[in-house]
Amino acid sequence: MKKHILIVRYGEVALKGMNKPYFERVLIERIRHALKGKRGIALTADSLTIERSDGLIVIRGEGERLPCAEDVLIWHISRVFGVASISPAIALESRELADISAAAIDFMRAKVAEWSEAIADIADEEGRDTPLTFKVFGKRSDKTYPIESPEMSRILGADILHALEPAVKVDVRDPDVRLSVHLRRREVFIYDEKVDGLGGLPLGTNGKGMVLLSGGIDSPVALWMMAKRGMRAEAVHYHSYPYTSGRAREKVEELARILAGYCGQFKMHVVNLLPAQEAIAQHCPEAFMTILVRRFMMRIAEKIAQRERCNMLVTGENLGQVASQTAEALFVTDAAVTLPVMRPLIALDKVDIIEKAQEIGTFEKSIEPYEDCCTVFLPKHPVTRPKMDAVLAAERLIPDMEELMDSLLKSAEVVHIRL
Ligand code: ATP
Ligand code: MG
Repeated sequence: MKKHILIVRYGEVALKGMNKPYFERVLIERIRHALKGKRGIALTADSLTIERSDGLIVIRGEGERLPCAEDVLIWHISRVFGVASISPAIALESRELADISAAAIDFMRAKVAEWSEAIADIADEEGRDTPLTFKVFGKRSDKTYPIESPEMSRILGADILHALEPAVKVDVRDPDVRLSVHLRRREVFIYDEKVDGLGGLPLGTNGKGMVLLSGGIDSPVALWMMAKRGMRAEAVHYHSYPYTSGRAREKVEELARILAGYCGQFKMHVVNLLPAQEAIAQHCPEAFMTILVRRFMMRIAEKIAQRERCNMLVTGENLGQVASQTAEALFVTDAAVTLPVMRPLIALDKVDIIEKAQEIGTFEKSIEPYEDCCTVFLPKHPVTRPKMDAVLAAERLIPDMEELMDSLLKSAEVVHIRL
C-alpha cells in the first residue's frame, strides 16, 4: 500500500535529551491546534493522525490521500514554532527492493509529467522535451536492511533511467529533482521537496512572559522572537487617552492579532498611563520624565505579570536606539523591578529589526502613523546617562506613589486577542 503523507522535522527539539518526549508531545499538540478549524482544512477529529515516528512527526489521512490540499496543510504547519521543515512524501509499506523501485519510478514519472507540462510550449520542433535531471539520495535508518545507502541509490538510479529515458537524465552535481528514498524500520518514504519551517521551540515549553507591547516596530518583533523560543506571551499596552486616540489603541490590537497567528490567542492588559505621566510632569524635574515613566511602565507590567504567573518581562528595547535605551538608562529601568527583563532585540541593527518585522507581517501595521503614550510630555532635554541616586531622588517627589500604582492597576482592562 502507498500513502500520501507529510513528514515534519523538528531540528532542535531533537537535542533536548531527557525532555525530548515532552517537547515532541507539545509540538504535536501545537500542530494539531494549528490545523483545527482553519479555512481550507475540513478536518474531523480522526481524519488526520499526527504521530511521532523514529525522530520525525508523520501526518497521515485515513485513505491513500491526505484529506485536504497538501499546500494548505504545509503552510499552516510551517508557521508552528519548533517545526524545522516539512516534506510531502509517499509512504510505502513494502520494503521489497522491487516495490521500492516501482514506487520511485512512479514518483519520477509524475515529476516528468509536471516538467513536460511546465515547458510544453517551448519543447523543440520534434516535440522532444529537454530531460529532467535527477539524483537519488538513498538513506537507511534501519541498519539491519541488507542494502547499504550508496548501493540503494545506485540501483534505484539505474532503474529509473532504464524506465524513463530519454525523459530523465542523472546529474549528480545540480539535479532538478533530489529524490530521497528513506528506508525506515517498517516503511519507506519517498520525497523530493522540503519546505522550511520557522524553527525554534514549541510554544509553551519555555515559560510565560509579559510583553510591553507598543504600536511601534520593535516590540511586536520582540514578542515574536521570544514566542519562537517557546515562551507563551501575554501583553501590556499603555495609552494616554485622550492624548492618544482610540484609533491608536485599535492599531495595537490589530498588531496583536497578527502576532496571535503565531503564538495563539493571548491576553492584553490595557492601562491608561496618563495619571502617572501627569503626576511626574507636575512634581519631577522635566529631564527625568522619560526615565521615570519607563520605571512606572516596568513596575505596572511586573505587578500584572506576577498576578498572571509570568516568569519574565519582555521589551523591544535596543542598545543606544534612543535616550532611554543607553546602558545607564537600561540599568536604571531594570532596577525598578525584580523579574528578569528580556530584551531580545538588544544587539540588532534597526535594518535587521525592520526586515524581521516585514517577514512576520507586522511592519506595515507598525508604521501606520498613530501617536504613542511615550510621545506625550516628551522632555526637551532628557537625561541620557541617568544616575541612580538622581533618579531615585526625582522619583521620591511623586506623592502617593502606591496609591497611584493601585489606581492604575485597578483601571487596567483586559482584551482577549484572538485571530
Ligand atoms: P517600539 O517600536 O517597540 O515602540 P521604540 O524604539 O519606539 O520601540 P520606546 O518607545 O522607547 O522604543 O519603547 C521601548 C520599549 O518600551 C518598547 O519596545 C516596548 O517594549 C515598551 N513600550 C513603549 N511604549 C509602550 C506602550 N505604549 N505600551 C507598552 N509598552 C511600551
Ligand atoms: Mg515605541
